[in-house]
Amino acid sequence: MPITAIVEKNAYEAAMENFDLAADALELDDNVRNMIKSPERVLTVHLPVRMDNGKIHCFQGHRVQHSTARGPAKGGIRYHPNVTLDEVKALATWMTWKCAVVNIPYGGGKGGVTCNPKEMSQIELERLTRRYASAILPLIGPAQDIPAPDVYTNSQVMAWIMDTYSMTKGFPIPGVVTGKPIALGGSLGRNEATGRGVFNTVESACEHLGIPLRGAKVVVQGFGNAGSIAAQLLHGTGAPVIAVSDSKGCAYNSKGLDIPKLIAYKDVTTSVVEFPGSESITPAQLLSLQCEILIPAALENAVQGDNAGSVHTRIVAEAANGPLTPEADRILEAKGVFIIPDILCNAGGVTVSYFEWVQDEQHLFWEAQDVYNRLERVMKTSFNDVLKIHLNHQVGMRTAANMLGIGRVAEATKLRGLYP
Ligand code: NAD
Repeated sequence: MPITAIVEKNAYEAAMENFDLAADALELDDNVRNMIKSPERVLTVHLPVRMDNGKIHCFQGHRVQHSTARGPAKGGIRYHPNVTLDEVKALATWMTWKCAVVNIPYGGGKGGVTCNPKEMSQIELERLTRRYASAILPLIGPAQDIPAPDVYTNSQVMAWIMDTYSMTKGFPIPGVVTGKPIALGGSLGRNEATGRGVFNTVESACEHLGIPLRGAKVVVQGFGNAGSIAAQLLHGTGAPVIAVSDSKGCAYNSKGLDIPKLIAYKDVTTSVVEFPGSESITPAQLLSLQCEILIPAALENAVQGDNAGSVHTRIVAEAANGPLTPEADRILEAKGVFIIPDILCNAGGVTVSYFEWVQDEQHLFWEAQDVYNRLERVMKTSFNDVLKIHLNHQVGMRTAANMLGIGRVAEATKLRGLYP
Protein backbone atom coordinates (compact mmCIF):
# COMPACT_ATOMS: atom_id res chain seq x y z
CA MET A 1 0.00 0.00 0.00
CA PRO A 2 1.49 3.43 -0.85
CA ILE A 3 2.11 5.44 2.31
CA THR A 4 0.01 8.32 0.97
CA ALA A 5 -3.07 6.07 1.22
CA ILE A 6 -2.72 5.76 4.99
CA VAL A 7 -5.45 7.54 6.95
CA GLU A 8 -3.75 9.59 9.67
CA LYS A 9 -5.13 10.00 13.19
CA ASN A 10 -5.92 13.17 15.11
CA ALA A 11 -3.71 14.03 18.09
CA TYR A 12 -5.98 12.35 20.65
CA GLU A 13 -6.27 9.16 18.62
CA ALA A 14 -2.47 9.16 18.29
CA ALA A 15 -2.09 9.65 22.07
CA MET A 16 -4.43 6.69 22.68
CA GLU A 17 -2.53 4.49 20.21
CA ASN A 18 0.77 5.31 21.89
CA PHE A 19 -0.79 4.66 25.30
CA ASP A 20 -1.89 1.17 24.22
CA LEU A 21 1.58 0.33 22.88
CA ALA A 22 3.21 1.23 26.20
CA ALA A 23 0.45 -0.35 28.32
CA ASP A 24 0.85 -3.61 26.34
CA ALA A 25 4.63 -3.53 26.89
CA LEU A 26 4.01 -2.97 30.63
CA GLU A 27 1.38 -5.73 30.63
CA LEU A 28 -1.00 -3.41 32.51
CA ASP A 29 -4.24 -5.10 33.45
CA ASP A 30 -7.51 -3.79 32.01
CA ASN A 31 -8.75 -2.24 35.27
CA VAL A 32 -5.72 0.03 35.64
CA ARG A 33 -5.69 0.82 31.91
CA ASN A 34 -9.29 1.97 31.98
CA MET A 35 -8.73 4.07 35.09
CA ILE A 36 -5.72 6.00 33.83
CA LYS A 37 -6.39 6.26 30.09
CA SER A 38 -9.25 8.79 29.88
CA PRO A 39 -9.36 12.35 31.26
CA GLU A 40 -10.76 12.77 34.79
CA ARG A 41 -12.47 16.10 34.04
CA VAL A 42 -13.40 17.92 30.84
CA LEU A 43 -14.89 21.42 30.90
CA THR A 44 -16.04 23.32 27.80
CA VAL A 45 -16.84 27.00 28.25
CA HIS A 46 -18.49 29.67 26.09
CA LEU A 47 -16.87 33.05 26.42
CA PRO A 48 -18.77 36.19 25.37
CA VAL A 49 -16.22 38.97 24.84
CA ARG A 50 -16.82 42.58 23.79
CA MET A 51 -14.61 43.28 20.78
CA ASP A 52 -13.14 46.70 19.98
CA ASN A 53 -15.86 47.28 17.34
CA GLY A 54 -18.52 47.08 20.07
CA LYS A 55 -19.87 43.65 19.00
CA ILE A 56 -19.93 40.62 21.31
CA HIS A 57 -18.03 37.60 20.01
CA CYS A 58 -18.59 34.19 21.66
CA PHE A 59 -15.38 32.14 21.83
CA GLN A 60 -15.18 28.50 22.84
CA GLY A 61 -12.59 27.26 25.33
CA HIS A 62 -11.75 24.08 27.23
CA ARG A 63 -9.87 22.95 30.32
CA VAL A 64 -9.09 19.27 30.64
CA GLN A 65 -7.65 17.54 33.71
CA HIS A 66 -6.40 14.22 32.47
CA SER A 67 -5.02 12.94 35.79
CA THR A 68 -4.49 14.05 39.37
CA ALA A 69 -3.16 10.67 40.55
CA ARG A 70 0.34 12.05 41.31
CA GLY A 71 -0.58 15.64 42.24
CA PRO A 72 -2.42 18.72 40.97
CA ALA A 73 -3.12 18.92 37.22
CA LYS A 74 -0.48 20.93 35.34
CA GLY A 75 -0.47 22.17 31.80
CA GLY A 76 -0.45 25.14 29.47
CA ILE A 77 -3.16 27.18 27.80
CA ARG A 78 -3.14 27.46 24.02
CA TYR A 79 -4.76 30.24 21.98
CA HIS A 80 -5.01 29.14 18.34
CA PRO A 81 -7.65 29.05 15.56
CA ASN A 82 -7.34 25.24 15.29
CA VAL A 83 -7.86 24.42 18.99
CA THR A 84 -10.35 21.55 19.40
CA LEU A 85 -11.45 19.56 22.43
CA ASP A 86 -9.64 16.46 21.10
CA GLU A 87 -6.40 18.42 20.77
CA VAL A 88 -6.69 19.70 24.35
CA LYS A 89 -7.46 16.15 25.59
CA ALA A 90 -4.34 14.85 23.79
CA LEU A 91 -2.14 17.60 25.21
CA ALA A 92 -3.53 16.99 28.74
CA THR A 93 -2.81 13.26 28.40
CA TRP A 94 0.78 13.91 27.31
CA MET A 95 1.22 16.25 30.30
CA THR A 96 0.34 13.40 32.68
CA TRP A 97 3.00 11.09 31.26
CA LYS A 98 5.50 13.97 30.89
CA CYS A 99 5.29 15.05 34.55
CA ALA A 100 5.74 11.41 35.55
CA VAL A 101 8.74 10.91 33.20
CA VAL A 102 10.62 13.79 34.87
CA ASN A 103 9.24 12.64 38.23
CA ILE A 104 7.68 15.88 39.41
CA PRO A 105 4.60 15.69 41.68
CA TYR A 106 1.97 16.75 39.19
CA GLY A 107 -0.79 15.21 37.12
CA GLY A 108 -1.64 16.42 33.63
CA GLY A 109 -3.96 19.14 32.37
CA LYS A 110 -4.30 21.49 29.42
CA GLY A 111 -6.47 24.38 28.26
CA GLY A 112 -7.23 26.04 24.99
CA VAL A 113 -9.36 28.73 23.39
CA THR A 114 -10.28 28.67 19.72
CA CYS A 115 -9.27 32.18 18.62
CA ASN A 116 -6.74 34.00 16.46
CA PRO A 117 -4.66 36.15 18.80
CA LYS A 118 -2.77 37.59 15.82
CA GLU A 119 -5.99 39.36 14.78
CA MET A 120 -6.91 40.58 18.26
CA SER A 121 -5.89 43.77 20.07
CA GLN A 122 -4.15 43.57 23.45
CA ILE A 123 -7.29 44.74 25.25
CA GLU A 124 -9.43 42.12 23.45
CA LEU A 125 -6.92 39.46 24.53
CA GLU A 126 -7.10 40.72 28.10
CA ARG A 127 -10.93 40.61 28.12
CA LEU A 128 -10.91 37.11 26.60
CA THR A 129 -8.30 35.88 29.11
CA ARG A 130 -10.14 37.26 32.14
CA ARG A 131 -13.44 35.76 30.91
CA TYR A 132 -11.77 32.40 30.30
CA ALA A 133 -10.07 32.51 33.71
CA SER A 134 -13.39 33.13 35.48
CA ALA A 135 -15.08 30.38 33.44
CA ILE A 136 -12.48 27.75 34.49
CA LEU A 137 -12.15 29.17 38.02
CA PRO A 138 -13.83 26.21 39.74
CA LEU A 139 -11.09 23.92 38.40
CA ILE A 140 -7.89 25.92 38.92
CA GLY A 141 -5.85 26.74 42.03
CA PRO A 142 -2.32 26.13 43.36
CA ALA A 143 -3.35 22.81 44.90
CA GLN A 144 -5.76 21.77 42.10
CA ASP A 145 -4.71 22.74 38.61
CA ILE A 146 -1.96 25.16 37.60
CA PRO A 147 -2.00 26.61 34.04
CA ALA A 148 1.06 27.91 32.15
CA PRO A 149 1.77 29.41 28.72
CA ASP A 150 1.59 27.35 25.52
CA VAL A 151 1.36 28.33 21.84
CA TYR A 152 0.40 32.04 21.47
CA THR A 153 0.01 32.68 25.20
CA ASN A 154 2.76 34.29 27.29
CA SER A 155 3.71 35.73 30.68
CA GLN A 156 1.28 38.65 30.26
CA VAL A 157 -1.62 36.22 29.75
CA MET A 158 -0.51 34.38 32.92
CA ALA A 159 -0.42 37.71 34.82
CA TRP A 160 -4.06 38.40 33.82
CA ILE A 161 -5.12 34.91 34.94
CA MET A 162 -3.30 35.28 38.26
CA ASP A 163 -4.96 38.66 38.82
CA THR A 164 -8.46 37.42 37.91
CA TYR A 165 -8.09 34.43 40.25
CA SER A 166 -6.61 36.54 43.08
CA MET A 167 -9.48 39.08 42.80
CA THR A 168 -11.95 36.36 43.78
CA LYS A 169 -9.92 35.53 46.93
CA GLY A 170 -8.99 39.07 47.99
CA PHE A 171 -5.22 38.52 48.13
CA PRO A 172 -2.44 37.66 45.63
CA ILE A 173 -2.03 33.96 44.80
CA PRO A 174 0.97 33.67 42.47
CA GLY A 175 1.06 29.84 42.64
CA VAL A 176 -2.14 29.54 40.56
CA VAL A 177 -0.16 29.86 37.31
CA THR A 178 3.45 29.49 36.21
CA GLY A 179 5.32 31.23 33.43
CA LYS A 180 4.47 34.57 35.10
CA PRO A 181 6.53 37.75 34.79
CA ILE A 182 9.43 37.81 37.30
CA ALA A 183 7.83 40.82 39.03
CA LEU A 184 4.77 38.71 39.93
CA GLY A 185 6.60 35.64 41.26
CA GLY A 186 7.91 34.13 38.03
CA SER A 187 11.11 32.08 38.07
CA LEU A 188 14.40 33.08 36.53
CA GLY A 189 15.11 30.67 33.69
CA ARG A 190 11.43 29.77 32.97
CA ASN A 191 11.35 31.57 29.63
CA GLU A 192 14.25 29.54 28.21
CA ALA A 193 13.49 26.32 30.12
CA THR A 194 11.89 24.31 27.29
CA GLY A 195 14.63 25.12 24.77
CA ARG A 196 17.32 24.48 27.41
CA GLY A 197 15.77 21.09 28.24
CA VAL A 198 15.67 20.22 24.51
CA PHE A 199 19.37 21.12 24.35
CA ASN A 200 20.18 18.93 27.40
CA THR A 201 18.47 15.89 25.86
CA VAL A 202 20.11 16.49 22.45
CA GLU A 203 23.51 16.57 24.21
CA SER A 204 22.70 13.24 25.91
CA ALA A 205 21.47 11.67 22.64
CA CYS A 206 24.61 12.78 20.77
CA GLU A 207 26.78 11.35 23.53
CA HIS A 208 24.88 8.04 23.37
CA LEU A 209 25.14 7.85 19.57
CA GLY A 210 28.74 9.10 19.40
CA ILE A 211 27.85 12.18 17.33
CA PRO A 212 30.08 15.20 18.10
CA LEU A 213 27.86 18.27 18.59
CA ARG A 214 30.46 20.56 17.05
CA GLY A 215 29.74 20.42 13.33
CA ALA A 216 26.42 18.53 13.68
CA LYS A 217 23.90 20.14 11.29
CA VAL A 218 20.64 21.27 12.90
CA VAL A 219 17.24 22.09 11.33
CA VAL A 220 14.48 23.76 13.39
CA GLN A 221 10.83 23.90 12.34
CA GLY A 222 9.10 26.65 14.39
CA PHE A 223 11.30 29.50 15.59
CA GLY A 224 9.27 30.49 18.66
CA ASN A 225 10.08 30.16 22.34
CA ALA A 226 11.13 26.49 22.35
CA GLY A 227 12.75 26.38 18.89
CA SER A 228 14.74 29.62 19.03
CA ILE A 229 16.28 28.92 22.46
CA ALA A 230 17.26 25.37 21.50
CA ALA A 231 18.76 26.75 18.25
CA GLN A 232 20.70 29.41 20.16
CA LEU A 233 22.21 26.93 22.63
CA LEU A 234 23.16 24.48 19.85
CA HIS A 235 24.67 27.32 17.80
CA GLY A 236 26.72 28.21 20.89
CA THR A 237 28.34 24.75 20.93
CA GLY A 238 29.45 25.00 17.30
CA ALA A 239 26.55 23.03 15.77
CA PRO A 240 25.56 24.87 12.57
CA VAL A 241 21.80 25.60 12.47
CA ILE A 242 21.31 25.44 8.71
CA ALA A 243 17.55 26.12 8.46
CA VAL A 244 14.70 27.46 10.59
CA SER A 245 11.07 28.30 9.87
CA ASP A 246 8.02 30.00 11.29
CA SER A 247 4.40 30.24 10.18
CA LYS A 248 5.38 32.75 7.45
CA GLY A 249 8.29 30.85 5.83
CA CYS A 250 11.85 29.54 6.10
CA ALA A 251 15.46 30.77 6.21
CA TYR A 252 18.29 28.49 4.95
CA ASN A 253 22.07 28.73 4.79
CA SER A 254 24.05 25.53 4.17
CA LYS A 255 26.97 26.85 6.28
CA GLY A 256 24.79 27.81 9.25
CA LEU A 257 22.67 30.83 10.21
CA ASP A 258 23.84 33.43 12.73
CA ILE A 259 21.23 32.57 15.37
CA PRO A 260 21.71 35.49 17.81
CA LYS A 261 21.37 37.90 14.85
CA LEU A 262 18.35 35.97 13.55
CA ILE A 263 16.62 36.23 16.95
CA ALA A 264 17.22 40.00 16.96
CA TYR A 265 15.99 40.20 13.33
CA LYS A 266 12.78 38.30 14.20
CA ASP A 267 12.17 40.55 17.21
CA VAL A 268 12.04 43.51 14.83
CA THR A 269 10.37 41.99 11.74
CA THR A 270 8.24 39.31 13.54
CA SER A 271 9.49 36.61 11.12
CA VAL A 272 12.61 34.73 9.98
CA VAL A 273 11.65 35.32 6.35
CA GLU A 274 14.23 37.19 4.21
CA PHE A 275 16.90 37.14 6.94
CA PRO A 276 20.00 38.70 5.30
CA GLY A 277 22.42 35.98 4.12
CA SER A 278 19.72 33.29 3.96
CA GLU A 279 17.90 31.61 1.10
CA SER A 280 14.18 30.95 1.04
CA ILE A 281 13.10 27.29 0.87
CA THR A 282 9.70 25.65 1.20
CA PRO A 283 8.49 24.06 4.47
CA ALA A 284 8.61 20.64 2.74
CA GLN A 285 12.23 21.20 1.65
CA LEU A 286 13.17 22.23 5.21
CA LEU A 287 11.93 18.93 6.64
CA SER A 288 13.84 16.93 4.05
CA LEU A 289 17.26 18.60 4.50
CA GLN A 290 20.18 16.29 5.28
CA CYS A 291 21.11 16.97 8.91
CA GLU A 292 22.14 15.30 12.16
CA ILE A 293 19.46 16.89 14.37
CA LEU A 294 15.91 17.82 13.29
CA ILE A 295 13.91 19.78 15.86
CA PRO A 296 10.18 20.08 15.12
CA ALA A 297 9.16 22.97 17.43
CA ALA A 298 5.85 24.14 15.97
CA LEU A 299 2.62 22.12 16.17
CA GLU A 300 1.28 18.55 16.04
CA ASN A 301 1.50 16.24 13.01
CA ALA A 302 4.37 18.05 11.25
CA VAL A 303 5.76 14.72 10.06
CA GLN A 304 3.21 12.16 8.89
CA GLY A 305 3.16 8.97 6.84
CA ASP A 306 3.34 10.91 3.57
CA ASN A 307 6.46 13.00 4.33
CA ALA A 308 8.38 10.86 6.87
CA GLY A 309 10.14 9.01 4.04
CA SER A 310 11.85 12.21 2.89
CA VAL A 311 13.26 13.11 6.34
CA HIS A 312 17.08 12.68 6.42
CA THR A 313 18.34 13.06 9.96
CA ARG A 314 20.06 10.97 12.66
CA ILE A 315 18.06 12.46 15.57
CA VAL A 316 14.56 13.94 15.86
CA ALA A 317 14.27 16.07 19.02
CA GLU A 318 10.57 16.72 19.62
CA ALA A 319 10.43 20.22 21.10
CA ALA A 320 6.77 20.42 19.98
CA ASN A 321 4.06 18.20 21.41
CA GLY A 322 3.01 15.40 19.07
CA PRO A 323 4.95 16.48 15.95
CA LEU A 324 5.19 12.87 14.61
CA THR A 325 2.13 10.74 13.90
CA PRO A 326 2.34 7.04 14.87
CA GLU A 327 2.83 6.21 11.18
CA ALA A 328 5.73 8.68 10.91
CA ASP A 329 7.22 7.09 14.03
CA ARG A 330 7.17 3.65 12.42
CA ILE A 331 8.77 4.93 9.19
CA LEU A 332 11.52 6.89 10.98
CA GLU A 333 12.29 4.07 13.41
CA ALA A 334 12.61 1.66 10.49
CA LYS A 335 15.15 4.10 8.98
CA GLY A 336 17.14 3.99 12.25
CA VAL A 337 16.36 7.58 13.29
CA PHE A 338 16.81 8.15 17.04
CA ILE A 339 13.70 9.92 18.39
CA ILE A 340 13.79 11.97 21.60
CA PRO A 341 10.05 11.87 22.34
CA ASP A 342 8.12 15.02 23.28
CA ILE A 343 7.24 13.92 26.81
CA LEU A 344 10.97 13.76 27.54
CA CYS A 345 12.47 16.29 25.12
CA ASN A 346 10.27 19.30 25.94
CA ALA A 347 9.76 18.52 29.65
CA GLY A 348 12.16 21.32 30.66
CA GLY A 349 9.26 23.78 30.52
CA VAL A 350 7.09 21.98 33.04
CA THR A 351 10.13 21.18 35.18
CA VAL A 352 10.98 24.86 35.65
CA SER A 353 7.25 25.59 36.05
CA TYR A 354 7.42 23.19 38.97
CA PHE A 355 10.47 25.09 40.32
CA GLU A 356 8.47 28.34 39.96
CA TRP A 357 5.52 26.91 41.90
CA VAL A 358 7.86 25.64 44.65
CA GLN A 359 9.47 29.09 44.91
CA ASP A 360 6.04 30.80 45.03
CA GLU A 361 4.78 28.45 47.74
CA GLN A 362 7.99 28.99 49.78
CA HIS A 363 8.30 32.76 49.02
CA LEU A 364 11.99 32.08 48.43
CA PHE A 365 13.54 32.68 45.02
CA TRP A 366 16.52 30.99 43.38
CA GLU A 367 19.32 32.32 41.19
CA ALA A 368 19.27 31.58 37.45
CA GLN A 369 22.31 29.29 37.57
CA ASP A 370 20.66 27.28 40.35
CA VAL A 371 17.60 26.79 38.11
CA TYR A 372 19.77 25.73 35.13
CA ASN A 373 21.78 23.24 37.21
CA ARG A 374 18.68 21.62 38.71
CA LEU A 375 17.03 21.51 35.27
CA GLU A 376 20.04 19.84 33.66
CA ARG A 377 20.11 17.22 36.42
CA VAL A 378 16.41 16.42 35.92
CA MET A 379 16.68 16.27 32.10
CA LYS A 380 19.80 14.08 32.03
CA THR A 381 18.53 11.71 34.73
CA SER A 382 15.21 11.36 32.89
CA PHE A 383 16.97 10.79 29.56
CA ASN A 384 19.04 8.00 31.10
CA ASP A 385 15.95 6.44 32.74
CA VAL A 386 14.18 6.33 29.36
CA LEU A 387 17.31 5.11 27.54
CA LYS A 388 17.65 2.19 29.95
CA ILE A 389 14.09 1.03 29.21
CA HIS A 390 14.71 1.51 25.46
CA LEU A 391 17.79 -0.70 25.62
CA ASN A 392 16.55 -3.29 28.13
CA HIS A 393 13.11 -3.82 26.56
CA GLN A 394 14.15 -3.34 22.92
CA VAL A 395 11.37 -0.78 22.33
CA GLY A 396 11.49 2.63 20.63
CA MET A 397 12.33 5.69 22.72
CA ARG A 398 8.68 6.89 22.61
CA THR A 399 7.33 3.63 23.94
CA ALA A 400 10.13 3.63 26.54
CA ALA A 401 9.18 7.13 27.74
CA ASN A 402 5.49 6.19 27.80
CA MET A 403 6.33 3.04 29.76
CA LEU A 404 8.19 5.10 32.36
CA GLY A 405 5.45 7.74 32.67
CA ILE A 406 2.46 5.41 32.47
CA GLY A 407 4.14 2.94 34.85
CA ARG A 408 4.60 5.67 37.48
CA VAL A 409 0.98 6.86 37.13
CA ALA A 410 -0.29 3.28 37.35
CA GLU A 411 1.77 2.72 40.51
CA ALA A 412 0.44 5.93 42.14
CA THR A 413 -3.13 4.97 41.20
CA LYS A 414 -2.76 1.55 42.80
CA LEU A 415 -1.07 2.94 45.94
CA ARG A 416 -3.85 5.48 46.46
CA GLY A 417 -6.22 2.58 46.67
CA LEU A 418 -8.37 3.75 43.80
CA TYR A 419 -7.87 0.29 42.38
CA PRO A 420 -10.27 -2.18 44.05
P1 NAD B 1 5.52 29.84 20.20
O1 NAD B 1 4.20 30.42 19.96
O2 NAD B 1 6.54 30.64 20.95
O3 NAD B 1 6.23 29.41 18.83
C1 NAD B 1 5.61 28.63 17.86
C2 NAD B 1 6.36 28.90 16.57
O4 NAD B 1 5.93 27.99 15.58
C3 NAD B 1 6.15 30.29 16.01
O5 NAD B 1 7.39 30.82 15.57
C4 NAD B 1 5.22 30.05 14.81
O6 NAD B 1 5.38 31.04 13.81
C5 NAD B 1 5.72 28.69 14.37
N1 NAD B 1 4.78 27.97 13.53
C6 NAD B 1 3.44 27.85 13.63
N2 NAD B 1 2.96 27.08 12.62
C7 NAD B 1 4.05 26.72 11.88
C8 NAD B 1 4.23 25.94 10.72
N3 NAD B 1 3.19 25.37 10.12
N4 NAD B 1 5.49 25.77 10.24
C9 NAD B 1 6.54 26.33 10.85
N5 NAD B 1 6.44 27.09 11.95
C10 NAD B 1 5.20 27.28 12.46
O7 NAD B 1 5.24 28.43 20.90
P2 NAD B 1 6.22 27.55 21.78
O8 NAD B 1 5.92 27.84 23.19
O9 NAD B 1 7.61 27.66 21.27
O10 NAD B 1 5.61 26.12 21.47
C11 NAD B 1 6.01 25.37 20.32
C12 NAD B 1 5.72 23.91 20.57
O11 NAD B 1 6.42 23.52 21.76
C13 NAD B 1 4.25 23.57 20.84
O12 NAD B 1 3.98 22.29 20.34
C14 NAD B 1 4.17 23.55 22.35
O13 NAD B 1 3.08 22.76 22.82
C15 NAD B 1 5.52 22.94 22.68
N6 NAD B 1 5.96 23.20 24.04
C16 NAD B 1 6.23 24.45 24.46
C17 NAD B 1 6.62 24.65 25.78
C18 NAD B 1 6.97 26.00 26.31
O14 NAD B 1 7.29 26.11 27.51
N7 NAD B 1 6.98 27.04 25.51
C19 NAD B 1 6.75 23.56 26.65
C20 NAD B 1 6.48 22.27 26.16
C21 NAD B 1 6.09 22.11 24.85
